[in-house]
Amino acid sequence: MSRQVHSQEIRAAVYQKLQDRGVAIEDIAWIVKEMQGPYNPELTMETCINAVHAVLQKRELQHALLVGIELDVLAEKGMLSEPIQSIIASDEGLFGCDETLALGSVFGYGSIAVTTFGHLDKQKIGIIRKLDTKRGDGIHTFLDDLVASIAASASSRIAHHDRDQQERDSVVPFLPTLDVPEENAG
Ligand code: MG
Repeated sequence: MSRQVHSQEIRAAVYQKLQDRGVAIEDIAWIVKEMQGPYNPELTMETCINAVHAVLQKRELQHALLVGIELDVLAEKGMLSEPIQSIIASDEGLFGCDETLALGSVFGYGSIAVTTFGHLDKQKIGIIRKLDTKRGDGIHTFLDDLVASIAASASSRIAHHDRDQQERDSVVPFLPTLDVPEENAG
């Protein structure tokens, strides 16, 4: 029997699983502040936290999180079949599906999200580094990349909102009427 899962149930599961896996919203917001702070010195932690909550409402990201965390947990319990059990458990560097799943969920936030994700994938900072180096203390093969994708999407969201705000604040001068020379006209 299949049932249609309510979006509130998915959302609740996402927040619960992040918490169960030791990732706080503030941990992700800290990364966002590191990424966007240089472009906006007035950026507050509160804005970063709100941006993280906003991207966590996106169904595509929610689904990626649930799939990735599930695979991490099953690998931790030794419940996957070989050879994927060993590949995920050892966080095999050439596996790539962890990055692909995470990257797929940032596309909705455009190129800033994609480039920020690439940066975080290389320069693991904060909770991403903690998860990546937590070998022997649980399996976080998917989660480190998924946290990077949440942070990257939230960073992009802030960058775009900042620009929108600047444009609302600035006065647009009247554009002069173009005086097209006769020979170029037509
Ligand atoms: Mg990984």
